[in-house]
Amino acid sequence: MELLKQRIRQDGTVKGNDVLKVDSFLNHQIDVALLEEIGREFQRRFAGCGVNKILTIEASGIGIACLTAQSFRCPVVFAKKSQTKNIAGEVYTTKVESFTHGRVYDVIVSKRFLGPEDCVLIVDDFLANGAALDGLIDLVEQSGAKLAGAGVVIEKAFQPGGDRIRARGVRVEALARVKSMSEENGVKFAD
Ligand code: 5GP
Repeated sequence: MELLKQRIRQDGTVKGNDVLKVDSFLNHQIDVALLEEIGREFQRRFAGCGVNKILTIEASGIGIACLTAQSFRCPVVFAKKSQTKNIAGEVYTTKVESFTHGRVYDVIVSKRFLGPEDCVLIVDDFLANGAALDGLIDLVEQSGAKLAGAGVVIEKAFQPGGDRIRARGVRVEALARVKSMSEENGVKFAD
C-alpha cells in the first residue's frame, strides 16, 4: 500500500536493529484517515471471504480493527490481556509472548463473542516473530470459527513470523513488508 509506505518513510523511526516506531500515526497518536484507508484495503483484499468478525489483541490493534470493521460492517472482538485466574469455562485462553515487552501474557476471549458460526479476520499492527498471531489463531481454533486469514499493517519480513505462519496454511496479507532497516539507512521495503 503506497500511501502507508510513504508515511513510514516520512514519519517512521528505527530503534536498534529491529524496532520500528510509528507512534506519530499508528500506535500512540492515530491518523484516523490513514486507518480508514487501511481498513478499506483489508476489506478489498478479503472481500468475498464471508468475514463477519474482526479479531485483534489489545491495545494497539484495536483502532486498526475498528476502522477495518467499519469497512466490513461487522463487530470487533479484542483479546484481553488477563490478570484473572480461574475463569476457564467462560473464556478461550492462550499465552502470548510480547515482542516489545519481552514478557508472557495470558490472553482471553469470552466464549459469548466467538463460536463455530463465525468467519474471522485477524488484524494487528505488526508481524515480527508471530507470537501475537499464533495466540490469536489459537483462540480462533479453540472457538471452532472459520479463519479467513490475517491482515497486518506492517510485516518485518526479515523476522520469521510471516513465513512460518504462511507455511501453516494461513493467508497473511501485509500492507507494507519491511525487508531490512537500520538507524543509519532507514527502512527498505520488500516490494
Ligand atoms: P510478534 O508477536 O509478531 O513477535 O510481534 C507483534 C507484536 O509486537 C505487535 O502486536 C506489536 O505490538 C509489537 N511489535 C513487534 N514489532 C514491533 C515494532 O517494530 N514496532 C512496534 N511499535 N511494535 C512492534
